[in-house]
Amino acid sequence: MNKAMFYKPITGGNGSVRCYLCAHHCRIGPGKRGICAVRENRGGVLYSLVYGKVVAEHADPIEKKPLFHFMPGSRTYSIATAGCNFRCEHCQNYEISQFPRERPDLPIPGREKSPQAIVDSARAAGCNSISYTYTEPTIFLEFAADCAALARKSGIKNVFVSNGFMSPKSAAYIARLIDANNIDLKGGEGFYRDICHARLAPVLETIKIMKSAGVWVEITTLVIPGWNDSPEALRRIADFIASVDTAIPWHVSRFHPDYKLLSAGETPAETIRFAVKTGKEAGLKYVYSGNIAEPGGEDTVCPGCNNALVRRSGFTVLGMNISGRACPLCGLQIEGVWQ
Ligand code: SF4
Repeated sequence: MNKAMFYKPITGGNGSVRCYLCAHHCRIGPGKRGICAVRENRGGVLYSLVYGKVVAEHADPIEKKPLFHFMPGSRTYSIATAGCNFRCEHCQNYEISQFPRERPDLPIPGREKSPQAIVDSARAAGCNSISYTYTEPTIFLEFAADCAALARKSGIKNVFVSNGFMSPKSAAYIARLIDANNIDLKGGEGFYRDICHARLAPVLETIKIMKSAGVWVEITTLVIPGWNDSPEALRRIADFIASVDTAIPWHVSRFHPDYKLLSAGETPAETIRFAVKTGKEAGLKYVYSGNIAEPGGEDTVCPGCNNALVRRSGFTVLGMNISGRACPLCGLQIEGVWQ
């Protein structure tokens, strides 16, 4: 248990504090926890209950995050603690993300591990980055930041896989320590309200903050039938990404029913194809289809001459044909962090 960052006591609040780590800005009374259920007010001091409590760790292909323009073909050491600031009805990792909220009577699970031990594990596993992922890394930001600072000193890069629902201050803080960020852009305001019990605007703000801080950003949208798959909804997402930078890769992924959202069916392949087309029409240079066997749908193609630069199947890189940072055929510079 470590003292939390980004909170302030509330003047005249009888020991209550306000947490500014994420955009919920929870008011937390003495003895209570915030919405994420992993930050607790003890005697007017806010503590992180998940510092160093690792609930999942695994060496993954970087493509699994998904990041397609960030050291393709490399392995990343993925870690998570329990908890999340969202309550998405379709969460695929709900057993760990929602556990602290659903079972406050039980201890928060996790194996004690120091930041140095995480960096050592990453190196031993042959990973040249650490990903803070599976659950929402914002809620374990203090631990992620300490790991990231040590990793950077060791020449290991840092990746956030995030819902982007941060406060501007915490986003700017972690942006100084991470190299890449895959951010979910899940839908419109109604989707965030009804499915995630959150808001859209802070997510859009985080995307802009990360980009302007020089972090490599890719966006993922899980397309769910009946919830965020209308042409207008997809177009709004694509237009927003294009307004920030047309070189931001957009991953549009097929949904499989999970957790509480079992009534929505699998996303038809045709919808994913339509989303890819929508992204390209909006001017995005790199649009990828995910969770679907679509020939070429995961390949990185030169926007100048259509030359296949990185060929993939699922999370596997089948071949790379890039010269430094450029297309070997037409010489166009391809945005990303290439090894
Ligand atoms: S991180 Fe977000 S959800 Fe958790 S206590 Fe702070 S403001 Fe609330």
